[in-house]
Amino acid sequence: MEKLSNPQTTIAVLQKYQIRFQKRFGQNFLIDPHVLEKIIAGAGISNEDMVLEIGPGIGTMTQYLAEAAGKVVAVEIDRNLLPVLGDTLAGYDNVRVISGDIMKLDLLQLVREENGGRPIKVAANLPYYITTPIIMKLFEESVPLDNVTVMVQKEVAARMKAGPGSKDYGALSLAVQYYAEPYIVANVPRNCFIPRPNVDSAVIRLTRLPHPPVDPQDEALMFAIIRASFGQRRKTLVNSVSAGTDISREDLAWALEAAGLPAAVRGEALSLEQFALLTRQVLKLRT
Ligand code: SAM
Repeated sequence: MEKLSNPQTTIAVLQKYQIRFQKRFGQNFLIDPHVLEKIIAGAGISNEDMVLEIGPGIGTMTQYLAEAAGKVVAVEIDRNLLPVLGDTLAGYDNVRVISGDIMKLDLLQLVREENGGRPIKVAANLPYYITTPIIMKLFEESVPLDNVTVMVQKEVAARMKAGPGSKDYGALSLAVQYYAEPYIVANVPRNCFIPRPNVDSAVIRLTRLPHPPVDPQDEALMFAIIRASFGQRRKTLVNSVSAGTDISREDLAWALEAAGLPAAVRGEALSLEQFALLTRQVLKLRT
């Protein structure tokens, strides 16, 4: 089968199978070979790797992954695309397509069955309506993985990579950087897709850290504090966190002072390290 990564072949396949784009599934198919080459190189895929692809669509990226990796498992929610994938991937014997919703799949079991529990790589041109839930599922469920190399909305890539003081810095930056080191592989203009999305995109690689870079002693509490402090960005941390959690203003004021932080500090000024330190101080008041 000839490569799908150009407009003519993609349109011909869509017409042959009378495929209508499903907006609700975030379908924007890649038509640019250079972008695909950058994703494969950025993910560092070799023939020793098992790659999990989320949302193969008509199989455009899957063809590239199958050529570079030892094995590809691709999970697609849209059943209408299964006959297309059967055709476009017929020439590869190292691809398994699973029909289903990635959010409902037991990924730990999948990695055990398909890769003996060894770390996998994840590659995708993600459906943008569930970018964050998919990435957090991969990290929070402790799926054994080396890296996640994915196409996301450009602004979302900027938020994942941002540090304190940046306008893009927020709860997503801290959640991602607790688990992984982000690196922007490429910026991708909207004309690299059919249909053309109305946002620009970027490929980001998230390399899984062997251990979280900080120890808050209570992960759930730290992320509750983080979420609350960015929930009302323009307020001081004491105001926003006391409104958004069960921690009192007095306890927050004490914990900030014990952490050596200014009483009127805002969440957007704090690093992950400082959120972890603040969390440990709050915990001291609970024992
Ligand atoms: N990989 C293809 C490409 O690059 O041309 C298609 C990418 S398209 C942006 C996203 C794909 O994810 C679509 O094929 C869509 O049907 C699929 N998808 C959407 N939600 C999904 C879910 N919850 N589980 C699995 N696949 C999903």
